[in-house]
Amino acid sequence: MTDTAPPPDGQLADALALAQALIRCPSVTPVDAGALGVLEDALKPLGFQCHRLAFESPGTARVENLYARLGADGRNFCYAGHTDVVPPGDLKRWSVDPFAAVVKDGHLYGRGASDMKAAIACFVSALRGFLADRKGQFNGSISLLITGDEEGPAVNGTVKVLDWLKGRGESLDVCIVGEPTNPDHVGEMAKIGRRGSMTFYLTVHGVQGHTAYPQLADNPVHRLVRMLAALIDDPLDRGNAHFEPSTLQVATVDVGNPVSNVIPGSARATINVRFSSEHSSKSVEAWLRERLDRAIGPKGRYDLSLQVSGESFLTPPGPLSNLVCESVRNVTGGEPQLSTTGGTSDARFIKHHCPVCEFGMTNATAHKFDERCSLADMARLARIYRAMLDRYFN
Ligand SMILES: [Zn+2]
Repeated sequence: MTDTAPPPDGQLADALALAQALIRCPSVTPVDAGALGVLEDALKPLGFQCHRLAFESPGTARVENLYARLGADGRNFCYAGHTDVVPPGDLKRWSVDPFAAVVKDGHLYGRGASDMKAAIACFVSALRGFLADRKGQFNGSISLLITGDEEGPAVNGTVKVLDWLKGRGESLDVCIVGEPTNPDHVGEMAKIGRRGSMTFYLTVHGVQGHTAYPQLADNPVHRLVRMLAALIDDPLDRGNAHFEPSTLQVATVDVGNPVSNVIPGSARATINVRFSSEHSSKSVEAWLRERLDRAIGPKGRYDLSLQVSGESFLTPPGPLSNLVCESVRNVTGGEPQLSTTGGTSDARFIKHHCPVCEFGMTNATAHKFDERCSLADMARLARIYRAMLDRYFN
C-alpha cells in the first residue's frame, strides 16, 4: 500500500477519512455491515436527528435505511444516496482489497469509491464546513436520505422512506442525488432526468409440423421476424431538447429448435425499450402492440408480458439546475452539461416529491474492478456541494 499523503486541505482530509470508513464496511446489498452507523456517528455530533428505518416485504431481504435531519422548519434541502454497493466480483482482478479503502497514486480505491460512498463523504464534509462557518445558523433544514437498497431490488429503500416521510407530514423541497454523474472529471455533467426503461417478453404461437408440409403447419418464426421488423423499422420518437430519441433493442430471439425438419410450435423474443419524455410506459406499450397486431397477420396469435423498470422523467431546467450549475461554475469555472443519459436511479422515486437533480462523483469505474476516484475530484466535489449549501441558504 502506497499511502500518498492527502493535500493540505482540511475538507479533503475530512471527506477522505469518512469515505474510507464507509468503504471499509463491505455493505453489498442487502447487507449494511455498519455503513449507516458510520454515517450516523458523523451526523449526530452535528445535531442531526437520525432515524434508522428498516423495511422488509415478502420475497425481499430486510434493508436498513437512514433519514437524518437538522432543523425542524423552513425549506428542506435533501441529499439522497445509498451506502449499499455491488459485489466486488473476482478478487484476483482487483489490484487492491476492494474493502481496504487504499489510497495510491492520488486515488481512493475500493467498492463504492465512485458509486457512491465517496460522494456521501464529500457531502458530509461540505456540511461540516458549512455548519462551522454559519455557527449552526441557517434558515431551513438539511436532510440526508440514505438507503441500503439501491443496487438491489429497490423495494425496501427510498420508496418506503419517502412514504414514511409523507406519513409524518414531512416534505422535501429540493433533492440532490449523489450518484456518479461525471464522465471524467467532477463538474462535467449533472442529470436532470432519466429515460424510462421497460422490457417486453413476446411469445408467438404457431402450429408445429413438418418443414416439407408447411401447408399443414403455421410457422411462428416467420410471423416473429415480420413482427420484429415492424418494431425496428420506425423510430419511437425523435427525442426533444432534453432527451435523445427513444431506443428499442431486440435483446433475444428464442426458438430453441434442435432440428431442421420441424416447424416449431412457438417462438419468443425479448425487447428492451429506453424511452424519452415523449413517451410513458403506457404509450410505448400501445405503440408496440399496434405494430405487432398489424405485422402478425389475421390468424396469428401472440402473448405479450412486460416489466416497467422506471418511467422517464425530467426536472426542467430551473432553480435547482441553476443552483447546481452556478455551484460548479464557482468551483471549476466550467459549465456542466445537463443530461438525461444513463440508467435508472432512485431519483425516479424522488421526482414524485420534489425537484431532483443528480450530481456526484465520476462514473468511469463504477461497478468495475479497481473502482476508484481521484482525491482531486473528491476535493472538487466537496467544494461544489459546499457551494450548493451556501447558495441555497443564502
Ligand atoms: Zn449508485
